[in-house]
Amino acid sequence: MIKYNLVCKCGGTFESWFSNSTEFDSLRKKRLIKCIYCESSSVKKTVMAPNLKSKSNKVLKKTKLEKNIRKQLIDFRKYIEKNCKYVGENFTKEARSIHYDKKTSKGIYGKATPEETSELLEEGIEVATIPWVDKTEN
Ligand SMILES: [Zn+2]
Repeated sequence: MIKYNLVCKCGGTFESWFSNSTEFDSLRKKRLIKCIYCESSSVKKTVMAPNLKSKSNKVLKKTKLEKNIRKQLIDFRKYIEKNCKYVGENFTKEARSIHYDKKTSKGIYGKATPEETSELLEEGIEVATIPWVDKTEN
């Protein structure tokens, strides 16, 4: 059994049960499905009730946006991994040595606490904190 939400040209909506979608199509062709309000046979099925539909659309949009942000962060991570040197826990030390000794022009990335990050910024060292997303998780 399958339940369809039906909508009539008069604007009325109602539910009806059919054994399968083929039965719905053949009954509709024979004009045997009648609107419960105006008895017109100009009814067609809707996938979901209108209020449900708008709700699910909102959820879908949010998920899509989250996916886009996630994708951009992953791209950003890949870019950094490709173009910068990983220094791990030595990030603060390495960032200072690049800034003061001008040792290398290559960018670095690694771990720093929020305190270390603000210290570096106070010293005029350019650092940025980005969310480090897991590439494997989907
Ligand atoms: Zn109707």
